[in-house]
Amino acid sequence: MLDRTAKLTEYQTYIDGTWVDAASGKTLQSIDPYTGEPWAVIPECDRTDVDRAVEAASRAFESGPWPQMTPTARGKLMRRIAQLIEQHAEHLGQIEVRDNGKLIAEMVAQTKYMPEWFYYYGGLADKIQGAVVAVDRADHFNYILREPVGVCGFITPWNSPLMLATWKLAPALAAGCTVVIKPSEFTSASLLEFMRLVIEPSGLPPGVVNVVTGYGAVAGEALVTHPKVNKIAFTGGSVTGARVNELAARSFKKVSLELGGKSPNIVFDDCILDDAVSGAVSGIFAATGQTCIAGSRLLLQESIHDAFVEKLVAMARTARLGDPALAETQVGPVTTPAQYQKILSYIEIAKSEGAACVLGGGPAGADEGGGKYFVKPTIFTGVDNRMRIAQEEVFGPVLSVIKFKDEEDAVRIANDVAFGLGAGVWTQSVKRAHTMARRIKAGTVWVNTYRAVSFLMPFGGYKASGLGRENGMEAIDGYLQSKSVWINNGPGGGNPFIMKTAG
Ligand code: NDP
Repeated sequence: MLDRTAKLTEYQTYIDGTWVDAASGKTLQSIDPYTGEPWAVIPECDRTDVDRAVEAASRAFESGPWPQMTPTARGKLMRRIAQLIEQHAEHLGQIEVRDNGKLIAEMVAQTKYMPEWFYYYGGLADKIQGAVVAVDRADHFNYILREPVGVCGFITPWNSPLMLATWKLAPALAAGCTVVIKPSEFTSASLLEFMRLVIEPSGLPPGVVNVVTGYGAVAGEALVTHPKVNKIAFTGGSVTGARVNELAARSFKKVSLELGGKSPNIVFDDCILDDAVSGAVSGIFAATGQTCIAGSRLLLQESIHDAFVEKLVAMARTARLGDPALAETQVGPVTTPAQYQKILSYIEIAKSEGAACVLGGGPAGADEGGGKYFVKPTIFTGVDNRMRIAQEEVFGPVLSVIKFKDEEDAVRIANDVAFGLGAGVWTQSVKRAHTMARRIKAGTVWVNTYRAVSFLMPFGGYKASGLGRENGMEAIDGYLQSKSVWINNGPGGGNPFIMKTAG
């Protein structure tokens, strides 16, 4: 149970192994979305603090114990981090609920799952291997080294703050990089608790992981434009992602982006109906719809449309709104006031576009278990895929139901969108499952399940949903670069005025 009576908790940030205030002394307040009241005070860092953090990360990368450490020792240290997370997972999850208002069951499930990333990438740290290349020259010995990219800047959103930081931090540490993290201004506390309870006692050398809290436009941009940052890994909305990408390109930084989605959840008439209904609910109402992989477009085959909608509305209607800190709550508040207004405005847009609201359609008051920033689970039928409600990310509990005729029609509608993050397919046909998995343009396709993630499976977007992949073996490649080494063991000489090509 969260203690909501305590007075404001004051945090410092963590730079170069030391707890510090922002150089300016400024702070910002973090709001509990359930009560709408401030509960924590966070340093408001600016360019000066970012500079200090990047310099610390740069020093830690170039000198001191971190670059001297063997990959095996790095792996051991990461396993220690995993064990510390295991000890504190419950507390870290509770802090996340306080900041983003998502369900305690979901946030604690995430924090309890996070150690796996540190075990997995810790195990990979000493399996980063280059190659010996039998090059087409006599007497040459050529090889490829895999080296860390250097100082990495992470920018993370408010919806799953620690898990999304973990997806970046674990492969970056395994690769030997150093890091500066800028969390969302709305959810900085869990990362600061993570630094206090996990990173500081883990024995990681000072400067390897640093945090700059504050506003995206100030601290975030200072990080993205800092000349000593070599890579930016960003999770957030597509508009911010595009700006981050443009700014980072000016100094040729490597960039990975995990952005938004408008994912199709496609139900064929040969599905197990009850499973698909539950999958549709989980796709859009879990996490109050504030998830990049929300199945916000429900594509229903015409032949089952009416029966499915009836069951779906019946199940969604039973959703228990309330305090996200209580185990029995199923739908909590929206995380930020701006997001709350955005969701309500999209509900109005859908109505004005002619979609039929068959459930919800506005704020949820205290009599319904709601409160200040609650939106009723909302379902629109009769949606045309060209409507704004079908094309733009709402990031809230608002579902658009779209009819389709057959497989061909389903593929056309599913892919007719700027995004490509996830997709669901509900069918009992093996052939159809594989065909759909191939034809849908998205980074993840779930068949007969939805919203499943793992440290073992690559995650990322097609099209406007992002660049690069997190999780799985390939994520570590995003934190490494190749160096080609040429050793000539034979005679020198030759024509010095022309390039040494084959022979
Ligand atoms: P934003 O894009 O608004 O913010 C993401 C992060 O970027 C925050 O830390 C924010 O700081 C920072 N930021 C804002 N402006 C700038 C800037 N000019 N330069 C550098 N950094 C900046 O996203 P939200 O926090 O609102 O998160 C929700 C969005 O994230 C959704 O659109 C969702 O789809 C997407 N998302 C994608 C995921 C994926 O893996 N594909 C996963 C989770 C979310 P501040 O908070 O101070 O504004």
